[in-house]
Amino acid sequence: MTDRNHALFERAKQRIPGGVNSPVRAFKAVGGTPRFVQRAQGAYFWDANDQRYIDYIGSWGPMILGHGHPAVLEAVQKAALDGFSFGAPTEREVELAEEIVKLVPSIDMVRLVSSGTEAGMSAIRLARGATGRKKIIKFEGCYHGHADALLVKAGSGLATFGNPTSAGVPPEVVQHTLVLEYNNVEQLEAAFAEQGDDIACLMIEPIAGNMNFVRASVPFMKRCRELCTQYGALLAFDEVMTGFRVALGCAQSVYAQLIPGFEPDMTVMGKVIGGGMPLAAFGAKRAVMEQLAPLGAVYQAGTLSGNPVATACGLTTLKEIQKPGFFEALSARTQQLTAGLQNAADAAGVPFATDSQGGMFGFFLMDTLPQNYATVMTTDGPRFNRFFHGMLDRGVYFAPALYEAGFVSAAHSEADVEATVAAAREVFATL
Ligand SMILES: *Cc1c(COP(=O)(O)O)cnc(C)c1O
Repeated sequence: MTDRNHALFERAKQRIPGGVNSPVRAFKAVGGTPRFVQRAQGAYFWDANDQRYIDYIGSWGPMILGHGHPAVLEAVQKAALDGFSFGAPTEREVELAEEIVKLVPSIDMVRLVSSGTEAGMSAIRLARGATGRKKIIKFEGCYHGHADALLVKAGSGLATFGNPTSAGVPPEVVQHTLVLEYNNVEQLEAAFAEQGDDIACLMIEPIAGNMNFVRASVPFMKRCRELCTQYGALLAFDEVMTGFRVALGCAQSVYAQLIPGFEPDMTVMGKVIGGGMPLAAFGAKRAVMEQLAPLGAVYQAGTLSGNPVATACGLTTLKEIQKPGFFEALSARTQQLTAGLQNAADAAGVPFATDSQGGMFGFFLMDTLPQNYATVMTTDGPRFNRFFHGMLDRGVYFAPALYEAGFVSAAHSEADVEATVAAAREVFATL
């Protein structure tokens, strides 16, 4: 049999750098040939060889209802018939904004954009414009899109001004980006004590999904809130991944249950709010959002922003996840998966730790859950890669890198999870 995935990858590499339009798709970390997806339905996709996989990435989060959900399909088809893009406002943008504000109490107003990168970049500009300050804090292992000022990671140890992790980002561009260790209260306090009056915003993934799955501890999050308030910096939650994925009220609702009165000042969203279409947003209280053009001096714009087909997709997705019991069922299914994997690993004597919230999960081939990026990176990479390929060979598609989170959709059945766990039992036994 000819391997069409391989043939397509070879062809792709001739005309697209690395054969992919986003690096993680190239399977560079795990080796082997990326699967070219032909079609998807529910919890599955089929590759170019017509091989079926149980999909645990769901487009890296957006496909919370599973692929090809009938209500979403219908809304998208109907919207497409009315036109693809106008460059003028539409009613659906207002509806989507109203829906987001209804579900997330910390947000009074939102601006819609087309990608999480764009939303994060614009939120930083707005935070700087609104506070008149230059510096921003981010944390090692948190990804906020590939805007220059956010493409920084720091070495371990004390807080330092970051070095760019990408070529093409001049040091001058990231000189105002302060990179700290996730969950490190002492570093956070030291940074604010030294430079608190210059800090425009602190941006954080509340549950970090770009270093697998690491929660901000409650004491750490509490200090983030207190210090931002004390120094007049904006606390910006990057909920591109966690928004409407870990809970209907996003990750901030999870922290609000643990820290009375807790709210971030700004929220960045993407992924689920587009339901698989290019759509993202950033929101905050009215006084901050009114600094944006055309009302205020902070410029931000987009030809395809609030796209009518994308908003139809996102709005229908948000309506579906509000149905009674949706998140309870999704959480239970996700926990069935993580408990099953834990059990399978334990039976084989493979070190394993796992955590989840709503429809997002992570697992580590280590005994305890890591608290920061440096610890995540101590994972046994080759062992993870053997696990990944073992599962892939058995028709289960987990993220092709150990520093990525996983996603369960409403379309994943009990039987899908049982089949996944059965495959994991076989693979763990070979590790
Ligand atoms: C995916 C992601 C982004 C970037 O979103 P894109 O739509 O890929 O630009 C930003 N922040 C977080 C937390 C993400 O998971």
